[in-house]
Amino acid sequence: MKKDEWSLEDFEIGKFIGEGKFGKVYLAREKQSGYVVALKVIFKEKLEKYRFHAHLRREIEIQHGLNHPNVLRLFAWFHDDSRIFLVLEYAARGELYKFLKDLHHFSEKRAATYVSSLAGALAYCHQKHVIHRDIKPENLLLDVEGRLKIADFGWAVQSNAKRHTMCGTIDYLAPEMVEKREHDHAVDNWTLGILCYEFLYGGPPFEAEDQYDTFRRILKVDLKYPSTPRVSAEAKDLISKLLVKDSSKRLSLQKILEHPWIVKNADPSGSCNE
Ligand code: AMP
Repeated sequence: MKKDEWSLEDFEIGKFIGEGKFGKVYLAREKQSGYVVALKVIFKEKLEKYRFHAHLRREIEIQHGLNHPNVLRLFAWFHDDSRIFLVLEYAARGELYKFLKDLHHFSEKRAATYVSSLAGALAYCHQKHVIHRDIKPENLLLDVEGRLKIADFGWAVQSNAKRHTMCGTIDYLAPEMVEKREHDHAVDNWTLGILCYEFLYGGPPFEAEDQYDTFRRILKVDLKYPSTPRVSAEAKDLISKLLVKDSSKRLSLQKILEHPWIVKNADPSGSCNE
């Protein structure tokens, strides 16, 4: 699928997959190659309303330059008078979050496989000087084989609908962000700790009745491990080495990949179907 100029004519449009704040996503097939993709249709009018043009452009450029098995590919984009079209890799199994809700929590094998995939993808992004990826579970998709794909463009956080369904995204904020201090790529390592906990227990660690309480618990690193579901000491060891207030003391992405719990449990193929 390589071409300089794409247009809607190049695709057969299939079923409707879903809707975000800026537009709709459809299954599509590139006519020449038969390649199946997800086509995201963004309405320019909506972008204008939210003054989002420049932001989208930057995010598209970043995403287009990334090529990693755990980062959703953006193959191409084009536009007409009223719409922008993003030609995306199709993640057939959809949102990881949906599976977490259905299963309540993941097995250690599955959780470790996802954490390992995320750490690998983030290491790749950091190498390319792409930081502050937004790695909340709602932005993680699964392909047909169950491999994790980071799917956000950063701007997805702007979606109020998503915030609502997540009951507030502040659960993923690192202490330095809560305190509005300067922050760097170590915020991603914190978020990996939050996600690892959420995968294993079914909910994020600092959840509270209201935002203020969540902030307070994040700043205190008020970390508690419930007795059920039963989670191994090695998994807790990894979580506690990521949820560290001093960002310079958090486990590095490389050390995450070498952690005994990851080495023992993560499926090297990146797909876990148990
Ligand atoms: P979004 O506009 O990114 O919020 O996406 C709207 C819906 O389409 C969400 O339910 C996503 O899970 C789904 N979706 C977005 N991109 C893809 C993709 N590349 N493959 C499969 N589903 C997707």
